[in-house]
Amino acid sequence: MRRALCLSISLAAALLSPSGAAHGANDPLLRPIEPDYARQWLDPERPHRIFGNSYSVGFGGLSVALIRTDAGLILIDGALPQAVRDIEANIRALGFSIRDVKLILSTEPHYDHAGGLAALARDSGAPVVASAYAAQVLRKAGKDANDPQASIFVRIPAVTKLRIARSGEAVRLGGVTITPVATPGHTMGSMSWRWRSCEGRDCRDMVFASSLNAVSGDGYRFSDPAHRSQVAALRKSFAIMRALPCDMLITAHPDQGKGANCRSYADSAQARLDARLRKEASARPWNALR
Ligand SMILES: [Zn+2]
Repeated sequence: MRRALCLSISLAAALLSPSGAAHGANDPLLRPIEPDYARQWLDPERPHRIFGNSYSVGFGGLSVALIRTDAGLILIDGALPQAVRDIEANIRALGFSIRDVKLILSTEPHYDHAGGLAALARDSGAPVVASAYAAQVLRKAGKDANDPQASIFVRIPAVTKLRIARSGEAVRLGGVTITPVATPGHTMGSMSWRWRSCEGRDCRDMVFASSLNAVSGDGYRFSDPAHRSQVAALRKSFAIMRALPCDMLITAHPDQGKGANCRSYADSAQARLDARLRKEASARPWNALR
């Protein structure tokens, strides 16, 4: 009897929970990741049209984009597991359904952008589309020894239903063409996505840009000769980002793109890398002797 009562109370709590957090307790794909730290990213935001067929269904600190096509929806990024029910509610608020999502594009396999992918793929039945490198990492629950943040690795629900995208090779759905643009460096599998959105004859080049930030776990040095390819990848990604046709920029973390275009976004990422390399150089003990 007492057991039945507990069950009915927790069931009621689950049904009442606006964010679905209570559901997550029993659903391994919705189990919250770093809930206290991650809260800073999940400020609720009203889902809205960005331009033409492109919508925002994300949060104050994490972008999740939705693109409407004649053959269903394309979602970009999955935020965190504990954000999935809110993303799905945002999609509903725009008059669509998670079941209409046919493709889920991924910018990087870190937990803040990829933690919700497995649940979103399950709930929609759509595959997750990622670079070959990122797909391997998503399959291994986010684990990547080459990641500058490997020492502070946070496991995500492994993604199993994957489709590989190659940079420059168009992904098509229902009359919409999305072009993957490899922008590695923050993670070696990072991918940005570009497409065109129109309102009547007014068409804009849209870019959903992956993070380009040179950040790492403790002990990792970008100036270590062993990490030369990581730095080279970042510099190449800055150049690629700068050159993109880019009327409207959506950045994986919205605060990094406020008032920015692709060029200034790349410029600030480059300034950050250069500052980081200078800091590493001045921290060398033998530097003081010169
Ligand atoms: Zn990241």
